[in-house]
Amino acid sequence: MIACHCDSCRRQTGHHAAATAAPAEMIQIEGEEHLGEWRATGRAVRRFCRTCGSTLFWQAVGENMVSIMAGSLDLPTGLEISHHIFVAEKGDYYEITDDLPAFPGESKPS
Ligand SMILES: [Zn+2]
Repeated sequence: MIACHCDSCRRQTGHHAAATAAPAEMIQIEGEEHLGEWRATGRAVRRFCRTCGSTLFWQAVGENMVSIMAGSLDLPTGLEISHHIFVAEKGDYYEITDDLPAFPGESKPS
């Protein structure tokens, strides 16, 4: 699971986003008619619950992997954060205090 500190995740979730991911074909959704979509940019689509507003999914346009917001999952998730991404855009009101890898942008080596 990643913690994304990008401007878009911060504004949408109110803090940083924590998400795991799975190939689209591995995800089954009950109540798909309740999903709304929002595209802040042409780069990705975010899906949310139109009933309660919960942030649920993020998917880059043209890519098969779907990020699943960890906070939307029933407990226990069994998940752990592996690294931080887009820390260059993080909010100025907190520090990252764990020792996990942290990348200024995406987690690709620079
Ligand atoms: Zn983000």
